[in-house]
Amino acid sequence: MSTKPCPICKKPRNEDFSPFCSSRCRDKDLSAWFNDGYAVAGDPASPEDIAKGD
Ligand SMILES: [Zn+2]
Repeated sequence: MSTKPCPICKKPRNEDFSPFCSSRCRDKDLSAWFNDGYAVAGDPASPEDIAKGD
């Protein structure tokens, strides 16, 4: 069988986030898509970054 890796980081994909390996890579792909489509300026805040505040 030929399971393709995560297109973002090339790690084994996670079925929960197919075709990506994690929510991080999925968000990264979405961000790239949005940035390409709308050319939004600024740094998008990710839930993971916000969680670092603790
Ligand atoms: Zn990945």
